[in-house]
Amino acid sequence: MDEKSHVSLEQHACLVCGVSFDTGSILLDKRLRASMKRYTVTGWGLCPEHQKLSDDGFVALVECDPQRSGSPAGNGKLKPEQAYRTGRLAQLKREVFAQVFNVPIAADQPCVFVEPGVIEQLAAMVAPAED
Ligand SMILES: [Zn+2]
Repeated sequence: MDEKSHVSLEQHACLVCGVSFDTGSILLDKRLRASMKRYTVTGWGLCPEHQKLSDDGFVALVECDPQRSGSPAGNGKLKPEQAYRTGRLAQLKREVFAQVFNVPIAADQPCVFVEPGVIEQLAAMVAPAED
């Protein structure tokens, strides 16, 4: 089932959930060689669900396991391909993020990687009052 073709459907991997999704583009081998698999992941993006949340002003907190993730670069930031996602996610409004973490977040940054425990702490802080 590893048949190759000269066309491939382009996919991006979602920064937030890690799922690959179709970009709607078709990649073509210019020399028409059967060099490509059915799907080719060419980069990172946001899947439709997380794109919508980002458009709505949410920042995604993506929990990563530091034991299994690669070591961050010199600037302390983890590259998306190094992050070992635990599958736990939280969405925070940008203005709430800035208040809670006391750091600004770039307008074009859709998500941040956090260590285990951060999302629990946050949930405790922002838990809705019972009514
Ligand atoms: Zn996603």
